[in-house]
Formats: sequence, structure tokens, C-alpha cells
Amino acid sequence: MKVGVLGCGVIGLTTAYFLESRGFDVNLVCSDLPGSSSKANGGIITVSFTPTPWPGLASILKALMGFGGPLAIGPRELLSVTGLRWLLGAYKARGGRVDVIKALASRSLQLYKELLGRLNVRYLQGVIALYSRSESAEAHVRLHGGRLAYRDEVEALGFKGFEAGVVAEDEVAVDPLELLRALRSTLTSRVLEDTVVNVKPVGDGVEVTLEKGGSLRLDSVIVALGAWSSGILEELNVRIPLKPARGLALRLRAPKPPVAMPAILEDYGVVVSPVREYLTIVSSFFELKGFTLGWSEGRLKWLKSVLSEHVPALRDARFEGYQTGFRPCTPDMLPVVGELPGSKNIYLATGHCRLGVTLAPVTAELILSRLQGVKPELPVDVVEIVSPRRFIG
Ligand SMILES: Cc1cc2nc3c(=O)[nH]c(=O)nc-3n(C[C@H](O)[C@H](O)[C@H](O)COP(=O)(O)OP(=O)(O)OC[C@H]3O[C@@H](n4cnc5c(N)ncnc54)[C@H](O)[C@@H]3O)c2cc1C
Repeated sequence: MKVGVLGCGVIGLTTAYFLESRGFDVNLVCSDLPGSSSKANGGIITVSFTPTPWPGLASILKALMGFGGPLAIGPRELLSVTGLRWLLGAYKARGGRVDVIKALASRSLQLYKELLGRLNVRYLQGVIALYSRSESAEAHVRLHGGRLAYRDEVEALGFKGFEAGVVAEDEVAVDPLELLRALRSTLTSRVLEDTVVNVKPVGDGVEVTLEKGGSLRLDSVIVALGAWSSGILEELNVRIPLKPARGLALRLRAPKPPVAMPAILEDYGVVVSPVREYLTIVSSFFELKGFTLGWSEGRLKWLKSVLSEHVPALRDARFEGYQTGFRPCTPDMLPVVGELPGSKNIYLATGHCRLGVTLAPVTAELILSRLQGVKPELPVDVVEIVSPRRFIG
């Protein structure tokens, strides 16, 4: 079967890898738009990362007024009907389907154990979630499990100013760029460096129109264009409420690892991951401001002050550069994976928001099972809940 995978972020590449390994004739279409979140993320593969960044009304008001913190909402989101509808949907769904995310992430973590070895990608074993107040860490353990670590242990790892943390021994962290490179170099599929303009069902197959000219005739197509996916579907009259939630990833060079374990600074929404001996990744921010790339001094200052207070050894690190990433987010913060109702042979694999690296293998496996017509390794309700059907009346 001739399958097109549109998009070469972590979702597209992992899906192509799974399909290729099962004998599908895969055709990848890759365009390197600025803002692929697969190149700008914390690289944490986690089951226990809180799936929604909507802690409460106070934080939302703070974000609207432009005060510090990881969350920011641009005025255009409030002034447009789609923006307001998305925000209300997100507010209603907050804290929602943790069970669905956990089922997906657990299966993914299982798949990663073999995948990272096969791809020869290095990883760090164990991730800690840090909290200013020990009650929050205890609540985390009740919800997600893990081992409590108190102040002395947290300080010995290189973090200051936290009462407690929760260690998830089985979770891992990777360098996202190394993961992408490994996937790409392992694939033997046909790769077209081009931009998709249009996708439409034709006869028993699908036609993909490309910007540089020409088109592809395929049996099936997987749309994995991250935050850009919904734009391509509009011509099919399909409206998936997907917003780009932008974040920032910094790469910092230090003579030795500033911390001994990858960490999620939960009160700030900041990830610090010492992916290599000399390289640490810091990622943060969740901003609804459309596809904008620039960052104000104020935002960078806020991040630097968090790092300076809580990760003292990073004060001497050399800044290597930063990248913006647009997370593809639905209001219910759940991925959208499965066949598009009404558009035979067109599948969607997006909406992974804050957890796309984590959820890439389970997404690929789910798409593979759909194409093979076999039962996926997931509970039936989870497969139904993440299906695009929930947005299509
Ligand atoms: C700051 C930050 C930190 C994060 N940290 C983590 C983390 O620690 N763990 C985790 O699991 N997740 C994390 N995420 C989330 C994760 O990075 C994303 O969910 C994931 O990368 C989404 O991957 P994707 O392949 O769907 O999208 P993308 O990476 O955006 O890929 C889409 C691709 O499609 C291409 N494209 C778009 N339009 C077209 C077109 N018309 N034609 C051809 N190609 C096109 C783009 O150029 C891009 O290459 C983080 C995200 C951010 C921003």
C-alpha cells in the first residue's frame, strides 16, 4: 500500500518509521517551517507530566494581564470567536482526561524502551518533578505514584528552593534533535522536500498537491503537520480546533552537567534537562499568540530569574541559542488520531500539545493498526476519545 506521511516532526517521522518497518511503501513530504515544536522541546518522555496547563482562574487572569509566569494569552485570542471558543473549551476541559493521557503515555513509554535502543539514541533514566511546597509533591504521588524526595536530596541533585520532588524512575529524557536525526537517517522512504498545498480524496485514494508543482496519488495519507494541520483540512470543510501554543527551548553549554537529573519545575512550567555532559536544554512558556516567533526581553528575563534562583550552576553556562516551537493544541488537550469521518483514507495524527515526543510511538502504532485493520494495544474507549470524530458533527 502506498502511504503518504505529511510532516516530518516527531509524529510524522515516527509514524513513517513504524509503517516502513511493516512493509508499507511510505512517501514523506517534509517542509522545514520555522517553529516545528519537535526541534524545540524538553525531550521528556513522561507518564506523569500534568496534561493541562490550566491551573485556575487566577493564573488565567494573570496571563491575560501580561504578568510573569509561563502562560500568556494574546489579545487577538479574546477578540475572535474561534479564540474565545477555544479558551472556554480549554477552561471547561481543564484537569480533564488524565486517564486517557496516562493510558497513551504508558504504552508509548513501553514502545520507547525498544525504539531508543534500536535507533541508538542516548537517554537519561529517571525524571524528577519539583515543587515549592511538599503538599503539592505529596498530591502528585497520590495521583501518579513515584518516590518522594525531600529538600536535601533535591539540593544534592543541583536544585535550590524546593521543599520536595517526586522521582519517576522509569521515565526518560532525550535530546529531541538527536531523536529526529536518528529517525530520519534510519528511514529509507522516498522523501519529498516540498510544502503540501492541498489534500483531497480522489476515487479510492487521495491526491496531495505540492507547492513546487506536481501532485502525489496515494492509497492513504497521514496528516502530521503539527499546528499547521488544521489549515490543510479546511478545504475539506473539516474544522479541527487546533491552536499553536508557542514555547521556547534554550540550549546551554556548561563544562559539566549543572544538575544530576532531568527535572520539571512544576510551579513554573520549566523543564531543565542535562541531555549531554556539556549540553543542557531548558524549555518553557505556553503562549497563545498565533504563529509569532519573537520573544520580548521581559519574558526571557522571567525565565533567567527562575533559573538563577533554582539552578545555581546554570549561572555560568554559555547560551548556545534558542528555538521557538508551536505546540499543536486542542481545547481538550488530547491528541487527534484516526481516520477523518467523511474523507476516506485520510488520517489525522496531531494535537499532541505538550506531550508529542512522549506520545509519538503510541500514535504511530495506532495509525498502523488502523491501516492494517487490526485491534490497537489500547482500550477501545481511549481510541474513540482521541478520534477526530469528536470534532466532526
Ligand atoms: C517548549 C516546548 C517544550 C516541550 N516539551 C516536551 C517534552 O518535554 N516532552 C514531550 O513529550 N513533548 C514536549 N513538547 C511537545 C512536543 O514538542 C510537540 O507536541 C511535538 O513536537 C509535536 O510534533 P508534531 O510532529 O506534531 O509537530 P511539528 O514538530 O510542528 O512538526 C510538523 C511538521 O510539519 C511541517 N509542515 C507544516 N506545514 C506543512 C506543509 N504545508 N507541508 C509540508 N510540511 C509542513 C513543519 O515544517 C514541521 O516540520 C514541548 C513543546 C514545546 C514547544
